[in-house]
Parts: sequence; structure tokens; C-alpha cells
Amino acid sequence: MKSVGRFAPSPTGDLHFGSLLAAVASYLQAKSTGGQWLVRIEDLDPPREVKGSATRILADLERFGMQSDREVLYQSTRFAAYEQALEELLGSGQAYWCGCSRSDLPASGIYPGTCRDGLPAGKSPRSVRLRVSDKTISFDDLIQGRVAENLAQTVGDFVIRRADGIAAYQLAVVVDDAFQDVTEVVRGADLLDSTARQIHLQHCLGLKTPAYAHHPVAVDDSGKKLGKRHGSDPIASLSPSIVLQQALEFLGQPCPQSQTLDDLWHWALAHWDVSGIAAQAAMPLNPAKI
Ligand SMILES: [Zn+2]
Repeated sequence: MKSVGRFAPSPTGDLHFGSLLAAVASYLQAKSTGGQWLVRIEDLDPPREVKGSATRILADLERFGMQSDREVLYQSTRFAAYEQALEELLGSGQAYWCGCSRSDLPASGIYPGTCRDGLPAGKSPRSVRLRVSDKTISFDDLIQGRVAENLAQTVGDFVIRRADGIAAYQLAVVVDDAFQDVTEVVRGADLLDSTARQIHLQHCLGLKTPAYAHHPVAVDDSGKKLGKRHGSDPIASLSPSIVLQQALEFLGQPCPQSQTLDDLWHWALAHWDVSGIAAQAAMPLNPAKI
């Protein structure tokens, strides 16, 4: 079976070096083996959206030479599918309504199961939570190696439909990865701790679990994630071949210097090796070098 990879940005700002890494890594992982690469715009959360950024992200990707092999999927068109998954999970008793507000939750962040056996008197339904069990979920990350997490000990029953009625990120991602037949999820290690929740959701919904690969996120010298909040420039203003070369180096694929964009892609597709990527959660990158 051909692999299917995806890049799934939120339209909350322009493409920057940090998010480009996930685009490049997922693209090369899929395309170097003749697979497909898809783009999904995660526009679940209208208040956080920056107007026009989805269009600019797609234009930037194209400028770098990356194009979705299928029509771009927008999560804002998928609400019915998320509702259907919610109804399935509520109907089977795997999920339940929770009436807790933020102030009811303990500082640990681990949900204590207050509404597990029905809403306590005086509480009305707010969000929907998925039951977790006290067992270890483990997977072999293609970059980070063996990862194990016991959800009962790290998060407890977690929210899959928010109090504002919007499907939680975890649910939407799982429903859409299955809908798009994604076989390999390549993304930044800041999402590593979402993976066990997503695998649990896949089990509950009877969906296949894709392979996962989490590359290090780029941080500045003080350890802050590079991104729009930390002063790193949108890559729209930078030369694609220089930025791509930096991205390949960061991803452990040291490429020949001073090439054209086409030459770089040609080289990268022929030489891509996911085992070259450092098994680290974060790595420093000097933005001045780009
Ligand atoms: Zn509750």
C-alpha cells in the first residue's frame, strides 16, 4: 500500500520556519516512497483564525514547491462527521457529558472522573469526555522510538467536545486522518503528548492507527519555540531555497550547498532518511542563519 502523509496547519498565522519543518518532513516521508501528500487546514476554531492566513499558507507551500495531491480539506466543512463520531461514542457509553467548568478541575490537570457516573445534582451538561482506562498505550515513533503513556495517570477522561460545542482537536484529527486514509503522521514533537489520546480514540472508534514520526521542534537560544509569537519572520519574505536548505539540515539531511530549489528537492527526495532526524523534543536554531 502506498503511504499517505499530511500537513495540517491551523490558519492562525503565516507559515514560519517551525511549521515549515513539519510540511517538509511529512512531504519527503510520503513522496520519497512514491506516496501521496495531503494538506488539511485545521480551521476548527473561528475566533483564533487570522483572516487570509489559510490562503497565504497554501501560497507559501506552493512557492516552496509543495502541493497537496488531493483537494485541500478544511475542518470547517467536517462538523457533521465529528458529530457522528461523538454520537457513536456517547451511544456506546465510551463517552459521557461532563458538567464541570474550569474552576471545578484540580490543579494537576487530571480529570478526577466527577461526572463519570452521571451529572452530579445541580450540574448541567457542558462538554463531552472520553473514558480512559488505567493501562499503558505504547507506540513506536519512527523518530523518537518507543513511547508509552497511561492516560489515566496523565490526563484522565479527556474532552472531545468543548463547552462551546466545537469538536476538540483530538477528535477532529482522528476522524480526519481516518477519512483521508492517512498512513503516516509526521509532525512536531510538541504534539507527541497528543498521540496516546489519538490512539485511544482510534481504538474506541474502530479506526486504524497510522505510523507516527515526531521531529524536534525548532527553538531559539532561550528554549522558546520558534513561531510568530517569538519574532521569527514569516518565511514568505525569505528565499525558498535557503530556507529549505536550513530545514533539511535541521532534519538531519545535510544537503550539498548552493543549489536551486528544484535541485534541492531532487536531492532530498532521493536521499531522505527519517533515521537522520534527531530523537529530541526540541533543538536550537539560530533564526539569524536563515
Ligand atoms: Zn465533570
